[in-house]
Amino acid sequence: MKPINVRQFFSQFPDDAACLAHMFEVRFGQGYECPKCKRSAKWYRLASEQAFSCQWCGNHIHPMVGSIFEKSSTPLQLWFYAIFLFTQTRHGVSAKELQRQLGVTYKTAWRMGSMIRKHMAGVDGERPLGGNGEAVEVDETYVGGERPGKRGRGAAGKTIVLGMLERNGDLIAKVVPDGSTKSLAHTVARNVKAGTEVVADMHKGYDALEHRFELKRVNKDRDGYVGPDGEHVNSIENFWRHLKCSIKGTHVSVSGKHLERYVKEFEFRFNRRMRPEAMLAELLTRFPELDV
Ligand SMILES: [Zn+2]
Repeated sequence: MKPINVRQFFSQFPDDAACLAHMFEVRFGQGYECPKCKRSAKWYRLASEQAFSCQWCGNHIHPMVGSIFEKSSTPLQLWFYAIFLFTQTRHGVSAKELQRQLGVTYKTAWRMGSMIRKHMAGVDGERPLGGNGEAVEVDETYVGGERPGKRGRGAAGKTIVLGMLERNGDLIAKVVPDGSTKSLAHTVARNVKAGTEVVADMHKGYDALEHRFELKRVNKDRDGYVGPDGEHVNSIENFWRHLKCSIKGTHVSVSGKHLERYVKEFEFRFNRRMRPEAMLAELLTRFPELDV
């Protein structure tokens, strides 16, 4: 299956009503048991508000509740299209680009981008990596540094991102406060299953991993990229290269405070690299569980 193109997008979502109907279908659907009268109901779209009404008791369901669209005055179709744009790129979407494509203010565009990244992180989730017979590369990278000397952010104001990549599998990346054992080894231990073969460089922050994992070290200073037994962290380093080059090209720079959301956006796409056609469908069907 191929990812849908812009023409297919607009044929599937021709207007706001189609988008709202889609939201209702994927989250509730006809026959959904009314939370108020407890009967399986036919639901009717209300003309007066963005809601559906129970055939029996007239109770309302708002399909956008709890989603990133809920409190927004931006038309739903624009939100869907913005999400579509995030699935069409390898390098991310800047607020400027959203402003231009959607015809909204820069402030609105920036906020939408930020919410979409948050949604991508939620949909991606964080299932633990590895397991018996699996190998996970771990590595940290330093991003930014436009505010040199800022304390607690590592070398020269840079923000540290820790990445864990299961070979031929998923990636989890997170911003960490520093290069300590607590920030590196403990974060790996929380996100990688015990018994996994873990490959790391010689950074002291990873030493403690030997207690829980089959730990292999790569001495980059001595051996270059690939050690004598073939151990390497090349896959995660490719991800770092792509992340940094994209941030530079698309956003110029991202502050440490917001970096995590951008990292999660790239994590979402990376984890779907073998099935890019699933990206839009997932983002437009998976919303937070509701407690109605
Ligand atoms: Zn009802």
